[in-house]
Amino acid sequence: MTKIIDGKAVAKKVNAQTATAVADLVAQGIQPGIAVIIVGDDAASQIYVRNKNRKATKLGMHSVVRQLPATTTQAELLAIIADYNADESIHGILVQSPLPAQINEPLVTMAIDPKKDVDGFHPSNVGKLLTNFPGNYPVANTPRGIMTMLHEYGVDPAGKTAVVIGRSTIVGKPMAALLTNANATVTIAHSKTADLKAVARTADILVVATGIAHLITGDDIKPGATVIDVGMDRDENGKLVGDVDFESAQGVAGLITPVPGGVGPMTIATLMQTTVELAKWSDVRE
Ligand code: NAP
Repeated sequence: MTKIIDGKAVAKKVNAQTATAVADLVAQGIQPGIAVIIVGDDAASQIYVRNKNRKATKLGMHSVVRQLPATTTQAELLAIIADYNADESIHGILVQSPLPAQINEPLVTMAIDPKKDVDGFHPSNVGKLLTNFPGNYPVANTPRGIMTMLHEYGVDPAGKTAVVIGRSTIVGKPMAALLTNANATVTIAHSKTADLKAVARTADILVVATGIAHLITGDDIKPGATVIDVGMDRDENGKLVGDVDFESAQGVAGLITPVPGGVGPMTIATLMQTTVELAKWSDVRE
């Protein structure tokens, strides 16, 4: 029988821990602060940013949303990031994607102080993740949240075969690094992978992050595998679905995340967790 991984329940648990950690820091005179910068009026981004702001405020954090017009120049955006880098009330800075065409996204990533890089996308932090560097640094929230879910459901990656489908900087690559650091044997697959389905079938842990609705079906899943569906796609009726065909995976997968209610709630809970950690580390790191 396939067991469903309840991302909402795990997120609730993480949020409760975060609320306690915020209260502890506030008692020491530090209120964790997050600044989210949004450029333009992309509808989905507006919803994500609103949700992040609400959650941060609810957990007792200082939360700033900086809405900028779609015509914002690269220089204007970099100047605003520099201001937040220097602002002691802000511990985490997030620039919401997508950005308008005139903005060079890698330069924006590089402009954020690595110690305030709440997304974990700065090459300095990505390098630390890849080298399994000792010490404190932020890690991309979606894959980190997935590791928390695996832990909560007793899935230890050590010695397991893991396949990550998707090689983005946001999900696929950091996911593969985290699983490697946790001693899984990891394959990264992508759009040029020959016989993707055969590769998928080797996985004890299968993470699918492609943005292609129902790319993976029950036939592509090793019986008993843990399946993590990162996709947030729309089907032909406009319904939110994942990259995995949830119905045909039933009875084949051992554990599976639903869409919605799996990876999504964990990403935002982990973002809040990371913000608090950055605030805590801001006091003690070099
Ligand atoms: P992305 O940057 O577009 O990357 C997609 C990856 O999937 C690429 O590596 C691409 O391969 C690969 N791919 C595309 N079509 C494929 C195919 N037919 N077969 C095998 N691989 C294929 O996307 P992303 O930012 O990683 O996001 C992936 C999905 O996760 C999206 O649906 C996104 O909305 C969702 N997401 C959800 C959350 C959450 O919190 N729930 C967070 C982040 C993202 P190439 O490299 O060869 O092009």
